[in-house]
Amino acid sequence: MANDPCDSHTKGDGSWWAKDARGIELCRVCEKCERRKLARYRPDVLTDPNYWADEPIDEEVTMTLPSDLRAMLDASGVPWRLEQGGWHVKVFVNGRFVAILPNNGTRSSADNPGRAHLNVRAAIKRAIRTKGASQ
Ligand SMILES: [Zn+2]
Repeated sequence: MANDPCDSHTKGDGSWWAKDARGIELCRVCEKCERRKLARYRPDVLTDPNYWADEPIDEEVTMTLPSDLRAMLDASGVPWRLEQGGWHVKVFVNGRFVAILPNNGTRSSADNPGRAHLNVRAAIKRAIRTKGASQ
């Protein structure tokens, strides 16, 4: 195996520290190997200073709610929102907590709903009905 000088860059050989978006040093690179070495890292590590935030932003949460549940909530006319936890999404209808969906459950679909998906669907239906009855 040929000894690649790029595998053992040191200070003073014309290489520099490649840093991630937070300024954390990843590895020493030169013009020849920068692209190859940085290809090992997730793109957001290099470009997004918030890459290790635990909580996805709100838009993403909304996007991950199964579409049939979203449609049901939108059609109800009742205000609703989602709260993202580390491993779950909480569904609030009319300001009240009604259901919790595991994060992997948010990826189930209307055609192939998981158990959590079905439970959440029932809970949302109940919450929408309850709201209607109290008016
Ligand atoms: Zn190099």
